Amino acid sequence: MLRGALRFRAKPGLLGRGLNTRKGGSTLDWAGKVPEIKKKIQSFLPGGDWNPLYDTSHLPPERTDVVIVGGGVLGLSVAYWLKRLEKQRGAIQVLVVERDHTDYLAVVDNPPLDLQFNPSGYLLLASEKSAAMMENNVKVQRQEGAKVCLMSPEQLQNKFPWINTEGVALASYGLEGEGWFDPWCLLQGLQRKIQSMGVVFCRGEVTRFVSSSSHMETMSGEEVTLKRIHEVHVKMDHSLEYQPVECAIVINAAGAWSGQIAELAGIGRGPPGTLQGTKLPVEPRKRYVYLWHCPQGPGLETPLVADSSGAYFRREGLGNNYLGGCSPTEEEEPDPGNLEVDHDFFQDKVWPHLAQRVPAFENLKVRSAWAGYYDYNTFDQNGVVGPHPLVVNMYFATGFSGHGLQQAPAVGRAVAELVLEGHFQTINLSSFLFSRFYLGEKVKEHNIF
Ligand SMILES: Cc1cc2nc3c(=O)[nH]c(=O)nc-3n(C[C@H](O)[C@H](O)[C@H](O)COP(=O)(O)OP(=O)(O)OC[C@H]3O[C@@H](n4cnc5c(N)ncnc54)[C@H](O)[C@@H]3O)c2cc1C
Repeated sequence: MLRGALRFRAKPGLLGRGLNTRKGGSTLDWAGKVPEIKKKIQSFLPGGDWNPLYDTSHLPPERTDVVIVGGGVLGLSVAYWLKRLEKQRGAIQVLVVERDHTDYLAVVDNPPLDLQFNPSGYLLLASEKSAAMMENNVKVQRQEGAKVCLMSPEQLQNKFPWINTEGVALASYGLEGEGWFDPWCLLQGLQRKIQSMGVVFCRGEVTRFVSSSSHMETMSGEEVTLKRIHEVHVKMDHSLEYQPVECAIVINAAGAWSGQIAELAGIGRGPPGTLQGTKLPVEPRKRYVYLWHCPQGPGLETPLVADSSGAYFRREGLGNNYLGGCSPTEEEEPDPGNLEVDHDFFQDKVWPHLAQRVPAFENLKVRSAWAGYYDYNTFDQNGVVGPHPLVVNMYFATGFSGHGLQQAPAVGRAVAELVLEGHFQTINLSSFLFSRFYLGEKVKEHNIF
């Protein structure tokens, strides 16, 4: 059944036709001219406060080629690559719809971008049980050109004398090109860049898709319903109004909420065990990050340490402050209904591992903490990339389960290539297609945290 559906979707020319949605003049040009026209009218009418025209500059355009649901790093990266790879400047219109009103969306004229990159190796520790897996992973990383070394417990002790090597069978340590940066700076930078490339932003919430259906019979004689989204409804802020946006392609980059967006498009609403009944298995999972101070803690050369227990930490700034946490087990998963921090989780589940690995952490003081949502793929904790086999013009860039930031540049490019060229070009991400959920083919990654 799947093969039949996929073949139908891959008909040549389908995407090319889909992208030509515009009829007549562009609403964007009109929106740009509104302030000018208002000024002119006001100049020859009495009463300076009178507002002769309703300002629609906050509304999305009535038509666009691509609607990206979600203005997080994945959505912005797809927008960037769509504009970067377009054949001709202005050839493709892209609208990003973001419902969150955090300030970074408003930044227009910022000073030159400083990502606050802090170069530092990642030190991963493996127990006896996971040592062979680590060795294998490092082999693959080296084949791909990464400078990573393996260390025995003795070598580890010599290089980082503050580590207790008990229970460590092997360690891997990144020698270059690793570190951490400020994700908000990256979002700001991407935001500014893609605005300069002509991408339109809109603050609003995608609440509905209008689509048409056609019925197909697969080679095995089963009937499937193919859907195509024609219109996206964007609910405007502080208003009951919505703006319909005609479009050819929808990118589902709604992070932790992308499962809900898929459902809105009818994905997963079918008999269990069928492709039509297969949901996008992405949901919000709450994760805590704790910041602590430890005057006797390890010094400036401290790498990011990922312990075999799952706990991790790194330095934060210069003043013997540290940041870290640990993912809960399936049984310990906290209620994702709010973003309150569970301080007992640090006490009971994180601190014991930290203090065991770094004895100086016996004496530390937690200074603050926060919680955020992983865009958690419950099937195999990996990303979902590419088109849905039945809702043929919805593409996914989601589900990275805690790794979306580092993978966003590559995924954005891959999705843009799929949309523009119809196939992966520079990087083949076909293992991450939606169809794996139906086929039961997990893409498992080991020794990640
Ligand atoms: C504690 C923590 C630590 C992490 N550490 C790392 C790390 O070390 N390395 C790494 O690579 N990644 C890390 N991540 C994961 C990374 O942050 C995410 O994978 C990444 O931010 C996902 O980006 P996104 O664009 O898919 O989702 P988001 O950034 O969540 O963006 C999705 C957006 O969609 C919007 N949206 C949802 N529904 C709608 C709607 N109906 N209409 C309009 N807009 C909508 C939301 O408001 C949201 O802004 C971490 C995450 C957490 C929580």
